[in-house]
Amino acid sequence: MKLDEISVRQIKGVSAQKEQELHAFGVQTVADLLDYFPYRYEDYRIRELGEAKDGEKITVQGIIRGNGILQRYGKGKSRLTCKIEVEHALVTGVWFNRPFLQSHMVPGREIMITGKWEQHRLQMTVSESEFLDKEGTGKASKSGTLQPIYSVGGSITQSWMRKTIGQALAQFGAMLEEALPHELTERHRLMPRRDAVLQIHQPGDIREGQEARRRMVYEELFLFQVKLQAYRALNRKRGDGIVHKVNGETIRQFAATLPFELTDAQKKVVNEIMTDMRHPAAMNRLLQGDVGSGKTVVAAIALYCTVKAGHQGALMVPTEILAEQHLRSLQKLFDGTGIEVGLLTGSLTERKRRDLLAGLQMGMIDIVVGTHALIQDDVFFRSLGLVVTDEQHRFGVNQRSVLRRKGLNPDVLTMTATPIPRTLAITAFGDMDVSTIRERPHGRKPIKTYWVKHGMMDRVLGFIRREVDEGRQAYVICPLIEESDKLDVQNAIDLFVQMQQAFPDLKVGLLHGRLSAAEKDAVMSSFGANETQLLIATTVVEVGVDVPNATLMIIMDAERFGLSQLHQLRGRVGRGAHQSHCILVADPKSETGRERMKVMTETDDGFEVARRDLELRGPGDFFGTKQSGLPEFRIADMASDFEELEMARDDAAELCALDDFWTNPAYARVRAYLQKDQIFQGEQLD
Ligand code: ADP
Ligand code: MG
Repeated sequence: MKLDEISVRQIKGVSAQKEQELHAFGVQTVADLLDYFPYRYEDYRIRELGEAKDGEKITVQGIIRGNGILQRYGKGKSRLTCKIEVEHALVTGVWFNRPFLQSHMVPGREIMITGKWEQHRLQMTVSESEFLDKEGTGKASKSGTLQPIYSVGGSITQSWMRKTIGQALAQFGAMLEEALPHELTERHRLMPRRDAVLQIHQPGDIREGQEARRRMVYEELFLFQVKLQAYRALNRKRGDGIVHKVNGETIRQFAATLPFELTDAQKKVVNEIMTDMRHPAAMNRLLQGDVGSGKTVVAAIALYCTVKAGHQGALMVPTEILAEQHLRSLQKLFDGTGIEVGLLTGSLTERKRRDLLAGLQMGMIDIVVGTHALIQDDVFFRSLGLVVTDEQHRFGVNQRSVLRRKGLNPDVLTMTATPIPRTLAITAFGDMDVSTIRERPHGRKPIKTYWVKHGMMDRVLGFIRREVDEGRQAYVICPLIEESDKLDVQNAIDLFVQMQQAFPDLKVGLLHGRLSAAEKDAVMSSFGANETQLLIATTVVEVGVDVPNATLMIIMDAERFGLSQLHQLRGRVGRGAHQSHCILVADPKSETGRERMKVMTETDDGFEVARRDLELRGPGDFFGTKQSGLPEFRIADMASDFEELEMARDDAAELCALDDFWTNPAYARVRAYLQKDQIFQGEQLD
């Protein structure tokens, strides 16, 4: 029997009811329980009074030098005090509501007390105490230890958890097996798994505890990376993707029809993508580049190539507005090529939808633009060669294997306009190859960004007036009210009315999420044609909207937006030859809030914004909560364990690239771990 086959019921003291409650914590087997690590430790190591700051919680050891004096007050309330000699000082220990302790306070007894130290009164409010002669207590001594604190709840208490894990270690600890290949524990001098698990739950000295933690952090990150890297290696080895037969001439001819020349960065990235597409392994590539860096054009070239090679392409975008916009720009780009581009969104009429689906299935439609529904259910392709999608719709390892099981194995290009710091990218996109566009198209002037307070709104209106008089257009973005789409819409409407009053001679447009697709479309076309000069919008314009004549972006209550979101919004301007401006209207209350506004005025480089954002927020918040693609680690912390992360990733990649990785008995345990994961099920692993 292995530990992950033994139910927690086999541990002494675990009843059927406790077993049920443990399930709620994801703990079913002994292995699960031993892997249920504490999230911090309470420090009961004995310290000297001299080291303690006033008000700090500490543990000291002393000798009782008086009788306990008990005062009772109120209903069932009491206060027990007793003099205790600690390092030649006479300290008053105070216990609330523990009257039964009075009789134990016998002068001369040795005691350990933990509590809040009040220096000026030489007094300690005791939260826990323990007699060191241990008379009458059956409990394990906490004296001098670090006590693990677990995440618990229901009838499962800290002490029950400690006791039960201790019991599990005693009964089954010897069965703990090494999970890492020998060469890695050797290379990084990691302690054996058995010792590490023991140390994590019952730490001895702090150094050993840290070593144990380091080992488990590495193991966790390594096993996570192995999954990603093994999947990559397997994909390469299997080589059953689509081989796109396109030559450089095809690409050059198409590029020559574009109204501009590709930047060097775009050319480099196109080459990387083409290499993948020609390769028999399915492409899984992330294209990262700042807003406005020209990713869409790169995607269009890749789509062109899949069609030229006799396949179909799909472009998946988050919203219907974007789908329609991309439809139009692709139609323009492919004008005269004979390439047929279709649109699939939720608001198509039943008939149009049927026609489109038939067109896809028969191969009359070469490229389809749409929302996520594109690759689901009743959508069939004659031959799907390439899917281009965005970060939110990225094909995680799991979705890919779903597609594969449907008999589709297209090349996949994922685009992200949120530059991601390296450590996060390793984790969130570790299964992908990465292409980066760092340079913007030539001749673009940096966007000038200003931060003003609400009191300066008159001047902001003056600015709008000047830009419009010059023939330019402006966006005004409404404050964001979290989790209330309805209030966001109300805000937008209010702002719309105000702006109409301020500019009675201009055409002001309004765009928000509650409009129908047709209404949104009408608003966008009017703005695109410069019939509307001023567009009031909620964050629906965040991604992808492209109106080069718009040169002014005003963001109201900018402190409510995340930095990357502000950067995305700002990226809607600066798309043409004219100088563009972004004005943040904000009265941030906190220092961080002011700092964030400053970051925006200081740089318009998305990578720099991302780096500062990570610094100000920490990795947990970096992506926001949903769609982060980040796994939850039991013990590793992405903010502090980045060295281990890089190590784990390099080791995992190296291991999975070995010719004998799938066969060598030395890696059997790693493979067994992989085999348990559903993404490897049904795969021929060796
Ligand atoms: P992204 O998708 O990265 O935000 P886009 O592909 O939408 O950027 O490009 C932004 C704008 O820049 C578009 O109007 C596009 O036509 C234009 N553009 C793209 N590449 C170039 C280039 N090499 N030279 C000049 N303009 C370009
Ligand atoms: Mg390929």
